[in-house]
Amino acid sequence: ASTLYVVATPIGNAGDISLRALNVLSIADAIACEDTRNTGHLLARYGIAKELVAAHEHNEREAAQTLIGRLQAGQRIALVSDAGTPAVSDPGARIVDAVLDAGLRVMPLPGASAAVAALSAGGLVNDQFHFVGFLPAKAKQRELALAELRQVGATLVFYEAPHRIVDTVAALATQFEPTRQVVFARELTKLFEEIHRCPLAEAATWLAGDANRQKGEFVILLQGAPTAADEDEVEADRILTILLAECP
Ligand code: SAM
Repeated sequence: ASTLYVVATPIGNAGDISLRALNVLSIADAIACEDTRNTGHLLARYGIAKELVAAHEHNEREAAQTLIGRLQAGQRIALVSDAGTPAVSDPGARIVDAVLDAGLRVMPLPGASAAVAALSAGGLVNDQFHFVGFLPAKAKQRELALAELRQVGATLVFYEAPHRIVDTVAALATQFEPTRQVVFARELTKLFEEIHRCPLAEAATWLAGDANRQKGEFVILLQGAPTAADEDEVEADRILTILLAECP
């Protein structure tokens, strides 16, 4: 008892919920959620009826106080967001912070996360990634945010909404080398799932090629900045080409 369980839920395919998550949702005294209707649908699917407490970005601080009171009274509380892992580009972090500050126990129940799913199937070979999440909506701030990422060697991970995808890709093309690989991971785990890889130089053309490609939910991965070793390799290839051309 007296535990806040941070429970990941599916990002599209309802089957992507763990047995442990279902068990915790069943035994919890209440479930704190972003949208009670949305979570209600998920629970109904698994025959779970439970008190739902709204905990969204507009009431996180007040919700945290209520939940802390209930945890101190010995209850078990589960925290979910609408999709995927709470507190990752989703509400939850303030609640977790306050609960930890109050000296109470927090337990993660790992599961779906769009970022990790995209990285796992995107094929960009890199041990490091830099999670950017959503870029600022305003063009100038977006440009500044991207400029700061130009030297990052890790794979960059962006979340984007369909109505901004074209603008975001145009902005990426102004800030990063056209040879970098970009991965569009669209509608992951859903019916129209699509994973497309191409050099950044070709990304806008690919998006414009079919209106369906601009629909749905996206993770964009962008290959990190070229390393000194990459540049040495390019230079070695260049010199080799010159030398070979000189050979009889
Ligand atoms: N907490 C979630 C997680 O763990 O991934 C992220 C929630 S955030 C509000 C929603 C964004 O996540 C979408 O705009 C999109 O960038 C990404 N996303 C969520 N579901 C996705 C899916 N099925 N396919 C691709 N991207 C998805």
